[in-house]
Amino acid sequence: MAETIFSKILRGEIPCHEVYQDEHVLAFLDIGPLSKGHVLVIPKEEVATLAELSDEASAAIGRVLPRLCRAVMKVSGTDQYNVLQNNGPRAHQAVFHVHFHIIPKPLEGGGLGIDWPAGQLDAEEAPALAEAIRAAANGS
Ligand code: 5GP
Repeated sequence: MAETIFSKILRGEIPCHEVYQDEHVLAFLDIGPLSKGHVLVIPKEEVATLAELSDEASAAIGRVLPRLCRAVMKVSGTDQYNVLQNNGPRAHQAVFHVHFHIIPKPLEGGGLGIDWPAGQLDAEEAPALAEAIRAAANGS
């Protein structure tokens, strides 16, 4: 994987406002927050997208995400928030080191805006589609 700005943050070569760190995980304030308290949670493992992340690093992130959500909500004074995780440039990923956003959704506005052009699940296609994903998930 090509080096990203997050590698430099992990090595301490550029500063960040750290909010949490353990053996596998670093969390810090986003430099371009969508709302006050917007935090990024990154694995120390350097891979671009979630699907590439090892089980160990995934488990470490999963263990700490809810706690970090509680901390961000306590300090930002709202109980509503989005956890966002972008993979690939078409999916709005700009930094190619896997990361989770915790974005408070304040009552007074701000936070993540979502365009959600929902379709309709095709009842005829759905069984085969589910089976294909089930098989792929079991095979991996
Ligand atoms: P993405 O669109 O890849 O999911 O989000 C990348 C995030 O990284 C953006 O929200 C952006 O503000 C944040 N970011 C980019 N460079 C830096 C940096 O040098 N420091 C910090 N703290 N955040 C950064």
